[in-house]
Amino acid sequence: MQLGVTDYIDCAHFLPGHPKCGSLHGHTYKIEFIIKGEKGSDGMILDFDAVKEKLRAVLSEYDHRSLNDFIDYPSVENVCEMIRDKLEDQLEFPFTLRIWEGNGKWTEL
Ligand SMILES: [Zn+2]
Repeated sequence: MQLGVTDYIDCAHFLPGHPKCGSLHGHTYKIEFIIKGEKGSDGMILDFDAVKEKLRAVLSEYDHRSLNDFIDYPSVENVCEMIRDKLEDQLEFPFTLRIWEGNGKWTEL
């Protein structure tokens, strides 16, 4: 089964040398965090509150910050890898992470 939560962060970034995205600007990023697992005897894979808390703990590090403070080239693909690595440290379940950069653009790991 899969279980998912969604959260948002607002971040500034720029992509050095990129013709369109080379100047500092911002996005709202939507983060979809989908966990794969089996239900336990309590009828749950994980408690939603616990999942939201784990995701928020990681995201709060980046919210209202410039992503260039964390990685040199914060394309949405690189941001997705960065957040995936942080979440992996906190969770024993396999998961999928989909990150939307504004509307209509996303990447998934
Ligand atoms: Zn951008």
